[in-house]
Amino acid sequence: MADNKIFLSEKDIPEKWYNVQADLKVKLPPPLKGDGSPIGPGDLAPVFPMELIMQEVSQEKWIAIPDEVREAYKLWRPSPLHRAFNLEKELKTPARIYYKNESVSPAGSHKLNTAIPQAYYNKKQGIKRLTTETGAGQWGSAISFATQKFGLECVVYMVKVSYEQKPYRRILMQTWGATIFPSPTTRTNAGRAVLKKDPKSLGSLGIAISEAVEDAVTSKDTRYCLGSVLNHVCLHQTIIGLETEKQLALAGEKTPNVIIGCVGGGSNFSGMAFPFVPRKLKGEDITFIGVEPTACPTLTKGPYRYDFGDEAKMTPLMKMYTLGHSFMPSGIHAGGLRYHGDSPLLSLLVHEGIIGAKAYPQNPCFDAAVMFAKTEGILPAPETSHAIRAAIDEAITCREQKKEKSIVLCLSGHGHFDLASYDAYLKGDLQDIALDTRAIDEALCELPDL
Ligand SMILES: *Cc1c(COP(=O)(O)O)cnc(C)c1O
Repeated sequence: MADNKIFLSEKDIPEKWYNVQADLKVKLPPPLKGDGSPIGPGDLAPVFPMELIMQEVSQEKWIAIPDEVREAYKLWRPSPLHRAFNLEKELKTPARIYYKNESVSPAGSHKLNTAIPQAYYNKKQGIKRLTTETGAGQWGSAISFATQKFGLECVVYMVKVSYEQKPYRRILMQTWGATIFPSPTTRTNAGRAVLKKDPKSLGSLGIAISEAVEDAVTSKDTRYCLGSVLNHVCLHQTIIGLETEKQLALAGEKTPNVIIGCVGGGSNFSGMAFPFVPRKLKGEDITFIGVEPTACPTLTKGPYRYDFGDEAKMTPLMKMYTLGHSFMPSGIHAGGLRYHGDSPLLSLLVHEGIIGAKAYPQNPCFDAAVMFAKTEGILPAPETSHAIRAAIDEAITCREQKKEKSIVLCLSGHGHFDLASYDAYLKGDLQDIALDTRAIDEALCELPDL
């Protein structure tokens, strides 16, 4: 009988991250300033440390992981790859299902894979303080842990409605020593402008980004950091796919036929998928499926266009699949998947037809999450439940077609702080609201003409 869990030893933690740009025939369209003019590394220097800017534009295939980062990774890496025998049995499928368990990190998700190197490179440049935004607090908790590990101060602008309604991740961040402000605040011009118009504003991710960036560029020894979307974030996350590749080989799997991940900004799915892209390009039978909510169907319904990364148009323009920076998705429980855009790199691979995408409403995703919790024992994050839904559907197709495929999914995080969402689902209170296509059309009208 094969093992339920495939472990690597700590010395097997990869020594390099993989940069998929080096293996693509097409070039990634560059980021642009708001007026459409090119952006240089110097423009980004007040916002990010130099080494991360260099990683953002690097065309090198392999980028060395610093020893200090590998040391910190050892707290929870290599993460286990599980064979989902119990789920397979429940589904009576001939498919072999594997999941890479990123929920074992101290912060409970894959986000610590990039929080650690981001804190490290800032520290190395002599930066003393990092600012960022957080919605429900997944990214905020990862960066709070990583900054204290490297002796940096951490300031998190947390969307006010989440700050008030979801106290547990705020408490986790504070336990790790971060300072949390409910955004909008009176600390920044951006926050004061919002409060002047609407003193009762509950905030949004867009406003929180504006506040965190403004704080960084106007404060001494301070930089800003982001938990998804950017090239350097996807680069750091390739540690997921690189470990998985070694573990599948140990399990005797020649080719992972289907690779699945949920997509918010695209970082956990890119991290799992990118290391396998060269093998697909060489003709191996691999299908990649990025899974998003039907309430925010960026890859499946959006156009591939230049757009801003945030509502307030503070960020550069990036070419990506987008629903428009002013699109407000309905309040689904997978908060981490409510982003109007997607990683430019992942978008390019989807545009090239190398990677595919699919969308699901939230109720079928929670159905899948509960089946997973009952069989495999892990309660997944609502975001992750999208990947599980797609994997289960692939396994059911294998049963119907009597096909023996291997299916690999990224278990991006656990749902221990999302129990209120499960409560709503179990009570039958979750709505699958029809997508407001008119709101998307209106938001797309605001895209720059590039
Ligand atoms: C943030 C988050 C996501 C979505 O972000 P990506 O950048 O698309 O990976 C997915 N799952 C979990 C558990 C998250 O915390």
